[in-house]
Amino acid sequence: MIAPWPGLEALPDSHYAAELRKQPGSRRFAAPVEAEYRRSNLLENRALVRLVCTLALLLFGLHAGEVLAGVAAAGSLVLSAVVLLSSAALAWLAWSRGFERHYLPWAEVLVPLRNCLVAVQVTHVVVGGQIENLMVLPMLLIGPFYFLGLQYRVALTTAVLTVASMAAAAVVFHLPPPTALRGGALLIVSALTLGFAALQVERRSRRSFLETHIVAELAQQDALTWTKNRRVFDEYLPRLWRQAAGDARSLAILVIDVDHFKAYNDCYGHQAGDVVLRQVALAIQREVRRPLDLIARYGGEEFGVILYDADRAGARLTAERMRRAVEELAIKHRGSPSGAILTISVGVAVVAPTAERNASGALQLADEALYHAKAKGRNRVELLDEGAHRLLDTGVFTKEEFAPLGCAGN
Ligand code: GH3
Ligand code: MG
Ligand code: MG
Repeated sequence: MIAPWPGLEALPDSHYAAELRKQPGSRRFAAPVEAEYRRSNLLENRALVRLVCTLALLLFGLHAGEVLAGVAAAGSLVLSAVVLLSSAALAWLAWSRGFERHYLPWAEVLVPLRNCLVAVQVTHVVVGGQIENLMVLPMLLIGPFYFLGLQYRVALTTAVLTVASMAAAAVVFHLPPPTALRGGALLIVSALTLGFAALQVERRSRRSFLETHIVAELAQQDALTWTKNRRVFDEYLPRLWRQAAGDARSLAILVIDVDHFKAYNDCYGHQAGDVVLRQVALAIQREVRRPLDLIARYGGEEFGVILYDADRAGARLTAERMRRAVEELAIKHRGSPSGAILTISVGVAVVAPTAERNASGALQLADEALYHAKAKGRNRVELLDEGAHRLLDTGVFTKEEFAPLGCAGN
């Protein structure tokens, strides 16, 4: 039994946390998480899969050589040929470029098929008097459960089919009952032991997959507002900047600041301020919907937003929607000198990234726009004009190039 995660309810909403809350055993995850889990599991096991598929091909090839040379008992030559061919196909898939896409769907068919044929072959030669070949049967199960990158359900199905094939072959080839019982018992005990152990391994692997992703998410998240944190913003901005420069797209950077928030804390207390900050984050987050866009808590009561491929009109519209969304929360703010409800101001910079310009200059431009919004009375959106954009050409963007507005002495 795996101990439950402490504080599960406190985790932010995510696909991974939702799966962990379900207390996964060997159960499948919901579709997108399941696909990601399988992919990551397969890639983790790639080296092992390649090694084992190659060794299996060598062993079955060697055996086929022995059969042809008359050294080993033949069984059915056709079955041996199919076993060899399926091993060759698996080895080829394991080493092929299409491993990620093609290996699993094929392995889920070829591995059970090969196992069944080998079980029949082994039973056949055991009937011929070579009883020591029964030892091969348990070894047949180790691969599907541990070494071939298969999911537990597929490995279990393979084990059941292997046992069934051996039983059917025992009947068809008239395996003497004591030998059939010994072989069957060996196979069933091996299947149960390996299956049970593999179930534990799969549970741990699924859980560790979820935990790894949740920890990665938590490391990116701001603990109070559950938006991304400053570190993510600082890493993402230059990356998206380079991408936009390469794609010849524009970027909009929004700096959002809660108006008179110190007064709000003074009036209602810091804890009430925290609750409100979370509400504001939620309201503005709803306007950031496209996959490449990002919202992060930049610091204190300030948020940074990056909009990819946004022109001036689009950026202004989004910023205006955010401003209105917070206004519509209608959070009372008795301490505000500029109105009776809590509001935000938004500074917007829309820039066309080029190799010569730099991302921090663009952020500074948005910051300047925010100062303008504050100076012009707050609860408003300000977007700096083309003249200001041109100052970014050098990548240098200093305070002296703007008259400080409403923050004298800065
Ligand atoms: P302005 O309209 O000019 O932005 O005024 P302001 O009062 O919002 O600005 P100022 O920078 O003077 O104060 C910001 C305040 O935000 C101060 C701080 O107490 C509050 N604050 C910052 N982070 C948090 C937080 O995590 N929780 C709470 N409750 N308050 C915070
Ligand atoms: Mg403020
Ligand atoms: Mg501030």
